[in-house]
Amino acid sequence: MRSVHCLGDSKVTIGESPKPSADELSLVMRVKASAICGSELHALRMKPEELPAEYDNGGHEVVGVVEEAPAGSEFKAGDRVGARIVEGCGECTFCEQGYDTACLNKRIYAEPGGHAEYFRVGVRSAHRVPDGCDWPEGAILTGDGLGVPIRAARRLGDTKGKQVAVLGLGPVGLSNTLVQSWGGARVMGVDISAYRVNLAKELGAEEAVLGGESHDVEQAVMDWTDGRGADIVMIAAGRAEVFKTGFDLVRQQGTIIQVGELEELTFNPSGVFIRREATMMGSWYYASQDWPNMLAAHESGMPYGKLITHRFPFEEAQAAYDTFVSGESGKVVLTYE
Ligand SMILES: [Zn+2]
Ligand SMILES: [Zn+2]
Repeated sequence: MRSVHCLGDSKVTIGESPKPSADELSLVMRVKASAICGSELHALRMKPEELPAEYDNGGHEVVGVVEEAPAGSEFKAGDRVGARIVEGCGECTFCEQGYDTACLNKRIYAEPGGHAEYFRVGVRSAHRVPDGCDWPEGAILTGDGLGVPIRAARRLGDTKGKQVAVLGLGPVGLSNTLVQSWGGARVMGVDISAYRVNLAKELGAEEAVLGGESHDVEQAVMDWTDGRGADIVMIAAGRAEVFKTGFDLVRQQGTIIQVGELEELTFNPSGVFIRREATMMGSWYYASQDWPNMLAAHESGMPYGKLITHRFPFEEAQAAYDTFVSGESGKVVLTYE
């Protein structure tokens, strides 16, 4: 089958990968759309010699038509499905709660990568794409696009009326802006891209401001919160400076939630965790317990399709990645014949 192959140094091409086949636990779909995730950038930017052997691509937000499913499963050829790539054992106490991502025996379906003509996923972690949802929207609904912010919303609990500062307006920050605003929170978004600041407003942010060295984000947040600081600070950026800035923006007994992958950093916890009595939490991917809430968001009319700013035919993957890293995009989706 044809698939996107990362070549290193942010270059990709269309190459060949072995076509996956279904087994008693998994189905194979013919891919109709696959969205690009920020988590792919690490591998995309590697040097050619650093790329793992046999690596093709990191695509994992995938929808398509079932081609082959195990006998006795709830799926059959022709069904429209999306992929949750983390699947639990189905039997442990975590799995019983629908918290598959915590399962000690979880499987991850990510090889071959999902930017390809076919993709394999577990039958218990495939989700049906509702009628009336086009393929790119289906990739957002069933994948990280909606799954990640819906999971973060579960972690945060009721945020209605609360002031949420979202630091970083890449796809994760933007989707959280949408979900939090839709749920009644008051959101201020911050990013260094004017494009993304504008997009955050379109997605429901009450305020959205430029960040970066020449902008006083702390002042902007303090003005917005009458000097108290934000009830919730969401860190959706991968830079250590942003993480530390988040500490300065949270109010007494406020909450900091980390939703962007971050490398190692050093900080002093005294001010924020002792004197300000703040709480810190994180949120990773999404689990089967989150799917009903994702579907409910769809049924409530949440305009998650607005997260998609660009669609490219799969063959134009290079242009898609270039657009994704430009900062002038929301979700970028590849489409397939
Ligand atoms: Zn992802
Ligand atoms: Zn389990």
